Amino acid sequence: MTDKPLVVITGASSGIGAETARQFSAAGYPLLLIARRLEPMSELDLPNAVLRAADANDTQAVAAAIRDAEVQFGPVDLLLNNAGMMALSSVVEQDPQKVQAMFDVNCVAPMKNAQLVIPGMIERGRGTIINIGSIAGKQLYGDHTVYNGTKYAIHAMTEGLRRELARHGVRVVLVAPGMVDTALLSNTGEGAVLDGYLSYKESIGGGLRPEHVARAILSTYELPQEVTLREVVVAPTGQDA
Ligand code: NDP
Repeated sequence: MTDKPLVVITGASSGIGAETARQFSAAGYPLLLIARRLEPMSELDLPNAVLRAADANDTQAVAAAIRDAEVQFGPVDLLLNNAGMMALSSVVEQDPQKVQAMFDVNCVAPMKNAQLVIPGMIERGRGTIINIGSIAGKQLYGDHTVYNGTKYAIHAMTEGLRRELARHGVRVVLVAPGMVDTALLSNTGEGAVLDGYLSYKESIGGGLRPEHVARAILSTYELPQEVTLREVVVAPTGQDA
């Protein structure tokens, strides 16, 4: 067993979420890992981890998972809203279902899942919610319109929530990565948009590795509870846009 508090990570089956799960586990934290695909989370093979196959938008399933994990490991001290989707396209060509899906997972799920843990955090006078935004929540890029919109929205909601919870001793943090080498491009179809993204990434010497972002998340969380690093923008040194 472990004496560290429970950490919940959404989107833990791939990329930044999977690597953050590894690093928190190595640091001794018990975990609740949530994603739609169970197998990649099982393959992480981490101790003291409850794994749950669920859509981040399925609030009932997420609530049940939190209840189950809390029975084993005590109250949630960190919720990492990491699950996300990026489908790059011009608006006119964008699949409407992907418009909806991006807002659902990038914006709606983080707020609804925060609502599940906030009352307990307020009661305990401690806790941390970290939302993963993006540099695309700070500036516009071509063919990013809907994704940009989701990330601008989560940036605004993160800061609003931080202000709301500050007086309760609960931290709310934005982590906004630049380019990271993950499976995030899998929802952008082949063609000029994908080629443009990849050739820019190649021109700057490639993206960050997920472990770089995970390290930033772990060290931000491990600051004393009375210290909030409000915003972490972490990008490849060579990224100039
Ligand atoms: P990946 O595609 O590698 O990982 C995305 C994760 O989100 C997967 O574990 C996926 O799991 C999960 N996910 C997606 N939709 C849902 C859903 N509806 N319900 C539950 N889980 C879901 O990408 P990254 O690791 O790069 O992305 C993580 C976060 O980082 C995202 O919020 C992304 O926007 C952000 N980001 C990434 C950047 C990059 O360059 N890679 C840059 C800036 C921000 P599953 O499919 O099993 O459900």
